[in-house]
Amino acid sequence: MHYDLAIIGSGIVGLGHAWVAAKRGYSVAVFEADSRPEGASIRNFGMIWPIGQPAGSARALSLRNQQLWQELGKAAGFPVERCGSVFLAHHEDEMQVLTEFADSASSRDLNLKVLNPAETLQHLPAANPNGLKGGLYSRTECRVHPPTAITSIVSYLSELPEVELHFETPIVKVHDGSIQSADRKSWTANRIIVASGAYFKHLFPEQHRNQQFKICKLQMLLTVPQPDQWKLGPHMASGLTLRHYSAFDICPTLTQVRQRVATTMPELDRYGIHVMASSTPAGELILGDSHEYGDDIEPFDKDEIDQLILREIHKVLQIPQASIARRWSGFYTKHPHEMYIFREIEPRIHLVNGFGGNGMTLSLAASDSVIEQLANSNQMS
Ligand SMILES: Cc1cc2nc3c(=O)[nH]c(=O)nc-3n(C[C@H](O)[C@H](O)[C@H](O)COP(=O)(O)OP(=O)(O)OC[C@H]3O[C@@H](n4cnc5c(N)ncnc54)[C@H](O)[C@@H]3O)c2cc1C
Repeated sequence: MHYDLAIIGSGIVGLGHAWVAAKRGYSVAVFEADSRPEGASIRNFGMIWPIGQPAGSARALSLRNQQLWQELGKAAGFPVERCGSVFLAHHEDEMQVLTEFADSASSRDLNLKVLNPAETLQHLPAANPNGLKGGLYSRTECRVHPPTAITSIVSYLSELPEVELHFETPIVKVHDGSIQSADRKSWTANRIIVASGAYFKHLFPEQHRNQQFKICKLQMLLTVPQPDQWKLGPHMASGLTLRHYSAFDICPTLTQVRQRVATTMPELDRYGIHVMASSTPAGELILGDSHEYGDDIEPFDKDEIDQLILREIHKVLQIPQASIARRWSGFYTKHPHEMYIFREIEPRIHLVNGFGGNGMTLSLAASDSVIEQLANSNQMS
């Protein structure tokens, strides 16, 4: 069995590459170890999040990525909702950072509005009014429901004549244009893309070390469905989130926010906690998250982390029904400096990985760019 392109991994990165390659008429095979995608791509908030990307190439890629989500959502039949986002400020220094960001040249390609407390409550009625200093509204962000979107993409791709999906097919060896599964079947391809997310080190342990990848573990929570059609509306990020996304590094007052949190709540820095919320079609709220890296990662989730996330959520949001229905953790691969890695690691074998917490926000546009580069250099056929 020979293909123009073989892809290892059916997360959003693998599926994204399969989709754009199939659109160009290439024959594609996707190999997935599990019976369905169960990695980071179904465990996330579903936030497509240009506001977190630094101005320049990352922001531009995220805006292009949104267009591709809209196109893919239409083709595969799942909703991509332009819900926007609201950052909440419950401290003066957070409000100052939001104002600096909105005033900076680096936010010109976003549609932003600085909000006073009353306007913040209009945009996000669930914001906790106690101590609320204001907020920042952005129209740009979109939402998908990750399990729905990924399942719909799989079923859409399975109908395309260009695509073959091989589930329950763990790949154990990739070399010189050939792929071998655990049950000793083999396939060949002109190009192979390894999009195996946090599991990359199992296939290429040495490359994993060479690429300086770090694995990150995140803990997440899901509330029960909210009563009476209650909706969150836009994505919610708290002032703590300003510490997390590099887009805000240009704001002079961010240092003050970081120092205040480090001094008054060191437990949040210890577990990389900031809080965000996104709603699901069934009216639940996805809440998170924490960040533990490398050797700090333990196999068991920590109740202490869940309690800290909930403590911080309740400071900024008033949720009618806050009982937790589900808890889970997810893992992603992060590169210390690069937006993501696209590299030929052996002849005809390309690694695409390292999106960190931005895979939903960047990976369709990144897939488009990867396939374009391979196609333009006649490497696919
Ligand atoms: C909790 C959490 C919240 C997040 N929130 C957001 C968000 O709101 N917005 C955003 O932009 N990003 C978010 N992210 C990041 C985003 O989810 C990831 O960057 C993205 O999903 C990575 O996709 P992937 O395809 O590389 O990996 P995965 O989705 O993990 O897919 C990799 C796949 O490869 C398969 N595989 C591995 N090895 C093999 C093998 N040898 N043979 C066959 N198959 C193999 C695995 O089984 C898996 O299905 C979040 C991540 C987490 C964990």
